Amino acid sequence: MRTPLIAGNWKMNKTVAESVEWARACIAGLGDVSDREVLVCPPYTALATLAPLLEATPLALGAQDVFYAEKGAYTGAISPLMLKDLGCRYVIIGHSERRQHFGDNDAIVNKKIVAALGHGLKSILCVGESKPQRDGGEAETVVTAQVRAGLAGLDAAQMEKIVIAYEPIWAIGTGDTATAADAQAMHAAIRATLVGLFGDTVAAALRIQYGGSVKPDNVDELMAQLDIDGALVGGASLAVEDFLRIAHFV
Ligand code: PEP
Repeated sequence: MRTPLIAGNWKMNKTVAESVEWARACIAGLGDVSDREVLVCPPYTALATLAPLLEATPLALGAQDVFYAEKGAYTGAISPLMLKDLGCRYVIIGHSERRQHFGDNDAIVNKKIVAALGHGLKSILCVGESKPQRDGGEAETVVTAQVRAGLAGLDAAQMEKIVIAYEPIWAIGTGDTATAADAQAMHAAIRATLVGLFGDTVAAALRIQYGGSVKPDNVDELMAQLDIDGALVGGASLAVEDFLRIAHFV
């Protein structure tokens, strides 16, 4: 049985004061969520302030990216050691905005995942095709190739700390969600790829989130799909009432 993971990715939004206000309201509104995991990934600037607020609550803390070195001359970078030190449990790796604006390619994504796992951070590997790739019938080839490259060299034990987020690029921040049936089809293709790479047991246990314009009014249908095990939520995670409704999917 896979425990669903609902994660909020704030991207480059919210001051520290706004983050605290959101976190207090979220914790107050979550209630009993023992049948699902709930995670927030604020900007780096809010992590240290939120960590003690979230401790011993059902809301876990994660980061939006990480560099692959532990320390050294990498101006502007944040290491897995630093995130672990702050109390992060998860880190998002390979988000399409990182791939588009910051040059993260599959090889870099793989190095970041290996580094994060080395420090006990659970990694959310983001994969997804562009609109031209979908229109050209290449979506499954592109996505499964990203899965293979991102997870290259990992063993079954490491896979226990991996979550995959399928996020079609054309659905991110556009309001244009994949249909539940299309999302399910891609999730099934990802799981079949995992069977080939790591075997049935690992593939059956691994959580695959959907991301791309998840909202209060579409989350229930998405979460009802057999291979959709959670949501990675961008825009709709900024308003705490919307995020709470998504976290309370039925
Ligand atoms: C995301 O940033 O991962 C995302 C899915 O964004 P949105 O929910 O705004 O489409």
